[in-house]
Amino acid sequence: MTANVHDNDLQELRDQLALGCRVLAARELSPGFLGHISLRLDEERILVRCRGPHESGLAHTTARDVRVVTLDGEPGLPGELDGWTVPHELPLHVQILRRRPDVRCVVHAHPRRTVAADLAGLVLEPLVGAYDIPGSALVAGGVPVYPRSVLVCSDALGDKVAEHLGDHAAALLRGHGVVVTGDSVPEAVLRAVSIDEIAHLSLLVAAAGGRPRPIDEADRAELPDLGGSINLDVAWRHELSRLPATPRT
Ligand SMILES: [Zn+2]
Repeated sequence: MTANVHDNDLQELRDQLALGCRVLAARELSPGFLGHISLRLDEERILVRCRGPHESGLAHTTARDVRVVTLDGEPGLPGELDGWTVPHELPLHVQILRRRPDVRCVVHAHPRRTVAADLAGLVLEPLVGAYDIPGSALVAGGVPVYPRSVLVCSDALGDKVAEHLGDHAAALLRGHGVVVTGDSVPEAVLRAVSIDEIAHLSLLVAAAGGRPRPIDEADRAELPDLGGSINLDVAWRHELSRLPATPRT
């Protein structure tokens, strides 16, 4: 189809993005049917989870729901949007992808623990060390908060979110959800899982009467990098292994 992405690769990417949506659902990062993932294909086109004729939520996403569209939301291949519609919040994805050439994948989800922790006034802190080393490092780098709870359905709003995100890996959308970036679907989805886990721990600490605090700086400095891709591959296989059976197509 393009100089960059061949048909076999494209099918693999559709499969992987669909699995990413199902992991978000299995991890309860998007209660209900909302949420979506996008993945950059080339300069003009992305893959994105669309709403299809049998829409029944992220948990039931199949590769058929993952369509090639342009950054303007038009079909990226002939007939690609026949029967499918792009998400209302497509601008959230494309404005981040436009501003951040280093980002390939954008996850948008509505994780209730992350949203609740922010609404409770808890700032995400690197509360843990060896419990989740990549998650702790991500949070230590800062997770900015976009303060509005609106549906991000215009380029202007998408641009505002992208502005708040800046060079960070993720941002919270107050009263709404998260945007999480990555170099691949597994990386972005696993980052969303980590953020929600740390938000959950914050809520547990606060509920037990404690104050969520970052771990010692010295401990953080000693945390090793466990080797990105090996760790990522194992963590991803783990997520896939705990998915319920393949959804109906
Ligand atoms: Zn949303």
